[in-house]
Amino acid sequence: MHQPTEYEADPFIQLLCDAGLQHERSILQQLRRDHTVFQATSFDDTSALMQQGAPVIYQARLQNNEKGLIGFPDFLIRHENGLYQAADAKLTQRENKKALQIQLGVYRRLLNNQLPAIVFLGDGRTASLGNEVDMLVNAFIDDMKRLQIQSDQPHVRYSHSRCRICPYFIHCRAQFEAKQDISLLHGMHGRTAELLAQAGIHSIAQLASQDAENLPDVSHLSSLKRKQRVVQQARSVLNDEIIQLNEVILPEGTWVHFDIEDNPLVTTRNRHVYLWGLLAPPYTDKEFDYIWTDDEAQDYVGWLSFLEKMKRYRARYASLVFAHYSNHEKVTIQKYAERYAMLDDDTVQWLLGLRNEPSPLFDLQKAVLDNLVLPIAGYGLKEICKHPKLVNFQWQIEASGSQWSVVQFSRFLESSDIQIKQRLKTELLAYNRDDVTATRKLELWLRSFSNPKQAV
Ligand code: SF4
Repeated sequence: MHQPTEYEADPFIQLLCDAGLQHERSILQQLRRDHTVFQATSFDDTSALMQQGAPVIYQARLQNNEKGLIGFPDFLIRHENGLYQAADAKLTQRENKKALQIQLGVYRRLLNNQLPAIVFLGDGRTASLGNEVDMLVNAFIDDMKRLQIQSDQPHVRYSHSRCRICPYFIHCRAQFEAKQDISLLHGMHGRTAELLAQAGIHSIAQLASQDAENLPDVSHLSSLKRKQRVVQQARSVLNDEIIQLNEVILPEGTWVHFDIEDNPLVTTRNRHVYLWGLLAPPYTDKEFDYIWTDDEAQDYVGWLSFLEKMKRYRARYASLVFAHYSNHEKVTIQKYAERYAMLDDDTVQWLLGLRNEPSPLFDLQKAVLDNLVLPIAGYGLKEICKHPKLVNFQWQIEASGSQWSVVQFSRFLESSDIQIKQRLKTELLAYNRDDVTATRKLELWLRSFSNPKQAV
């Protein structure tokens, strides 16, 4: 009803679309091995094929004018009782996603039978969705009907993860910024913002002027600590200032900066880490150290090489701190240890702190979040490091980022041209080297909020 004026999918979204289509094609091939598959060309054609009892209908089109519903299931599969089941190929590995459940639930409603819908998931599993999704579908249809007759634009709230990839973002952002909507604040859930607005607190300035003790108890905002944090976040953004909550205390030892790059577009639940990057003293480009593997087939070799490298660092330095940003590196080491049944390995136990000594892994993001409130919309490494008034470190490849790296690695996998592969690998290494250099710069910056006697 209200299309975005212009929208060009960025390379990452395009990559996801292509991967989704590829997954759909591979499911189509699988179905073709066991069934005769007919491709539908229209609503009428779908209906005719169903009446003829086609075993599988690809790219089906369903509609129910009375209910005001249309749907485009990837497949309709004829059950032995003669009725049809809707089926979709989805790249996700989780069948409990609300949007997915609603979509498949609407197909069931269009087919008007009790058979569950089928989801062919990205990790090779097949899931069924039955009556349990009906309530979600009812609520969704009611919401859509309300919106259809509503002449004003509905209230929406900013979501840091969703809005930035949404085709309506240009439109919505202008409105959020004009209103200085509180949902722009880091850590502010949409529902919380809605409830605070109902209590008369709409803008960042209004929230900044509140006493945390007087804020109402609303969803995601029941503890005093959380309330204090959102008020401080509002003040930090409003006044463009850093608020220091505590002295930053960093662990002692030799710091080695650590960052991994992994490929989420794998066909199993096991992400392949293709690059384990490290930066040891004196932290120049020359010290950049890494393990690279070309593809998933070398996953185990890469993991063993990483452990071997960590062992060498352990032997070289008496006391080590592996600084990384966010919990991702630690969680990944844990997952790899489980993947290869190596939780008893001496180096794994040391890295994860499973013995009677603390883990040498240190999460810099936690150090930031525990001690500082910053005038930014999100606490990602790039947001903090690139900010000219904060760390002010710039990546050599300006477009680089986690999504960019997924696209580059996918191109690396696809290409058979040695020179192109080498160029892509060089770029990915430069990106990872900048990441570990950024965490080093962040460490130095954080030390300015700690005891000045701490070593640099
Ligand atoms: S609020 Fe965000 S997700 Fe919703 S339409 Fe606007 S930009 Fe898109």
